[in-house]
Amino acid sequence: MNIQNSKFITSAASPSGFIRDGLPQLVFAGRSNVGKSSVINKAVNIKRFAKVSGTPGKTAHVNYFLLDGQAYIADLPGYGYAKVSDSERRRWAALMEEYFGSGLVTAGFLIVDARHKPTADDVTMADWFTQTETPVVVVANKLDKLKNSEIEPNTARIRDTLNIDDILLFSAETGYNRDKLVNRIAEFSTKP
Ligand code: GDP
Repeated sequence: MNIQNSKFITSAASPSGFIRDGLPQLVFAGRSNVGKSSVINKAVNIKRFAKVSGTPGKTAHVNYFLLDGQAYIADLPGYGYAKVSDSERRRWAALMEEYFGSGLVTAGFLIVDARHKPTADDVTMADWFTQTETPVVVVANKLDKLKNSEIEPNTARIRDTLNIDDILLFSAETGYNRDKLVNRIAEFSTKP
C-alpha cells in the first residue's frame, strides 16, 4: 500500500453515524497534544486534516479519513484535556463504549509520549483495545526528545504501564520509523 490519496469522509457523533461498509477501520487515539495529528500526517498526508480535527478535546466525534479507497483512519479526539466538562467526558466514554462494542474497529494505534509514563487516561484507552481483543500498536512519539540512555527504560515503562508489547518508537518531528508505521497501517488495511 502506497497511500496516495487520503481524504476526510465524515464525522460520527453517535452510533448511527458510524461507517458500516465493511472496510477496515484503524483507530488513532491519544491524549491532547501528544502529537497525534503530526503522527497521522507524517504517515499519510491528509488534506485539510488539521481543520477537521478541531479544538483539542472539545467534541466527542469519530472522524473518518479514507486511505486510497481501502481502509479508514478513525481519528478519535484527543483525551485528557483539562477543560472538558463532565458531561462531555461522559458523552465521550459512551461513544467509545459504543464504537469499541460495535465490532467495527479493525486495529488501533495508541499514540503516547515517549518521554513520560503513560497517564491513567492512556491506560483506560489501552484497556479499550485489550478488552475488546483489538490489535493495537503503541506509537511512542517524540522520540527525538529522548537521550539515547533513556530509550530503553522509557520503552519498558510504557510497556509495563499499558501492558502492551507492540511498541513502535517514533518521531513525527524527524520521521523516525515512518516506514514502519506505514507498513503497520498497510498490514491492517488489507485485513478482511
Ligand atoms: P495532537 O493534539 O495530539 O494532535 O498534537 P499535535 O500534532 O498538534 O502536536 C502537538 C505539539 O507537539 C506540536 O507543537 C507539535 O509540533 C509537537 N510534536 C508532535 N510530534 C512531535 C515529535 O515527534 N517531536 C517533537 N519534538 N515534537 C512533536
